[in-house]
Amino acid sequence: MDRIVIKVGSAVLTEKNEIAKDRMMNLVYLISKLRSKYEVVLVSSGAVAAGYSALQLDKTKQIGKKAIAAAGQPILMSSYKMMFDILHIDTAQILLTEDDFDSRKRTKMFQEIINAHIPNNILPIVNENDISSTPEQLFGDNDQLSANVAQAVDADLLVILSDINGYYDKDPSKHKDAKLYKVLDELPEGVLDECATPNDPFATGGIVTKLKAADFMMRHGRKMFLSNGFDLEACEAFLMKGEHTLGTLFLPKGEGKKEKKKDKKKKG
Ligand code: GLU
Repeated sequence: MDRIVIKVGSAVLTEKNEIAKDRMMNLVYLISKLRSKYEVVLVSSGAVAAGYSALQLDKTKQIGKKAIAAAGQPILMSSYKMMFDILHIDTAQILLTEDDFDSRKRTKMFQEIINAHIPNNILPIVNENDISSTPEQLFGDNDQLSANVAQAVDADLLVILSDINGYYDKDPSKHKDAKLYKVLDELPEGVLDECATPNDPFATGGIVTKLKAADFMMRHGRKMFLSNGFDLEACEAFLMKGEHTLGTLFLPKGEGKKEKKKDKKKKG
């Protein structure tokens, strides 16, 4: 069975600092379907956004953000637990920092934990440990974290669910003629140097951190699929039926041509 890591962002999971219950439930349904075909690891943001409903401190300050995340992580996990319970799926919380990837011993530890969960039908839900870590120990955004998790758990594919349909040649909210890249095996020059500009005030990422995650995956010979988390149809069609409508598939260098040939053959 192929292994996939799914990363979902705060913009998808929360609305006005509350858990967006319908969207979370849709994700939970999708994951339950995916588990018939894949081994799934979920990387979920949303602690800071959800925590803000309980604690309105200044999230631009280190302690404020940590205090909010500490209040929000149980809100996030209890919402997941309630929804996965409906489908009889048990979950586990795994909080990681960059340090867990820097030390082989520590990496091995969480790899083994996840490898113990999966065959026992537990869904690991990973987030960054925003609470006790120093700024030097943090990735700062879950896009980078999820790419590192995908590499560490030897996942075939990382799926990032965000507030956009994929990666466009220009900002689709400003340009009507923006074109969606469907398959890329090389990133356009200079895109990784741009500043991160998330659309949602509680998201840390924006397109640049997604492209950095894609770059990491491509350099490590792995794939990434960037898809819309508000409407999961394209993601489900891609993962369950191999139908690629919307969403951008990032492939290791040189694999784009092979993919296009496959696509042509399919279309006849
Ligand atoms: N760990 C943060 C949270 O749960 C999310 C970081 C990010 O937005 O990527 O709120």
